[in-house]
Amino acid sequence: LEVIASVEPRIADATRQELADQRSSLKLIASENYASPAVLMTMGTWFSDKYAEGTIGHRFYAGCQNVDTVESIAAEHARELFGAPYAYVQPHSGIDANLVAFWSILAHRVETPALEKLGAKNVNELSEADWETLRHELGNQRLLGMSLDAGGHLTHGFRPNISGKMFHQQQYGTDPETGLLDYDVVAAKAREFKPLVMIAGYSAYPRRVNFAKMREIADEVGATLMVDMAHFAGLVAGGVFAGEENPVPYAHLTTTTTHKSLRGPRGGLVLAQEEYAGDVDRGCPMVLGGPLSHVMAAKAVALAEARQPSFQTYAQRVADNAQSLAAGFLSRGARLVTGGTDNHLVLLDVTSFGLTGRQAESALLDAGVVTNRNSIPADPNGAWYTSGIRLGTPALTTRGFGHDEFDRVAELIVEVLSGTEAGTTKAGGPSKASYLTADGVAAKVKDAAAEL
Ligand code: PLP
Repeated sequence: LEVIASVEPRIADATRQELADQRSSLKLIASENYASPAVLMTMGTWFSDKYAEGTIGHRFYAGCQNVDTVESIAAEHARELFGAPYAYVQPHSGIDANLVAFWSILAHRVETPALEKLGAKNVNELSEADWETLRHELGNQRLLGMSLDAGGHLTHGFRPNISGKMFHQQQYGTDPETGLLDYDVVAAKAREFKPLVMIAGYSAYPRRVNFAKMREIADEVGATLMVDMAHFAGLVAGGVFAGEENPVPYAHLTTTTTHKSLRGPRGGLVLAQEEYAGDVDRGCPMVLGGPLSHVMAAKAVALAEARQPSFQTYAQRVADNAQSLAAGFLSRGARLVTGGTDNHLVLLDVTSFGLTGRQAESALLDAGVVTNRNSIPADPNGAWYTSGIRLGTPALTTRGFGHDEFDRVAELIVEVLSGTEAGTTKAGGPSKASYLTADGVAAKVKDAAAEL
């Protein structure tokens, strides 16, 4: 930090403050974690300075021998850890990984057959007219994914996202009564819509998914099954999700971030069955430019950590702690979407406290509890204010929290929310954003949280 301070002291100060904030608050954001010092340090090296467009052994730049080493090791760890035939570790983020997967599917299922039919080796050989026809065909495909308010991600066909614009899209939700995925409903939707791409995976669904069933549905309608395991990759890596709950053997392509439950650097990766490997390997130039070589190095370190037996213990504790957190809420009368959890997150319905998600999120932050507001199925408050709070256990499990601490976390959260009222605007009208927490509650909870 002294080196940074000698150039731009404000950045050194902000960095110091970020560390203090992350240490003193309760980090319950389900997509966050604490990466190890080894992972963090690996990101701050000279690999940051290197350009390496292309793929291992086939670069558009000279002098990439060390990047080849790093990328090969990261890919090898990813293949071994997840039991995947092929791994691509270049994507800079989860969204990039999903874009690589989308375009690999389009290349495999639309572009390559069209080129073969026309007797062309690549798109550069096509006439203007054939190129226009192919471009139209690439833009005329269908995608079926989980809706945002049921727990899906923006990239699963949400209209404002590129995935909702690249594809004709439809979405499946969850059962309005139980909040659970209904595979018969998904199958019926798939039969009717006949998507090219079917996505399974989620950001805010507190339950496990049966990927064998999802593959069966995809096969029946001729779809490519893509699973986005960004949130639960750590549970797959640690063996908590096994058999039909492990997506890797069932999906044609599996994408993930590396920074959530997997506890690595910010980034993404794509795992593929052999038939898609060649397509994914062309992530650059298809979607990506130069890889972040320093981050690929950090991915290798994080994946090596995840192959240690201690990571299996960690993953099991993440899932056990989510049970403790859910039980802590239920025993205090709070309502959880689906009535509980069997992964790493719980979705608390805050309407029973008379609050919007936005009000609850702000009140909790005042008390040193960092969460994010989240839509619940058929949310009456819409996607901005929402009616839910999403809470995840990966970060605090890394800090060593167990059953008792998570029960106390539930107690503190209920104390804050019970002590908070929906506020009004200056003009006196109701506001979905303003709130009033009873005097002393936030400070008391903040002190209690710091003691944990
Ligand atoms: N996929 C899922 C399921 C996610 O939850 C997220 C991030 O929240 C992403 C993809 C996108 O990851 P990133 O923020 O790294 O682009």
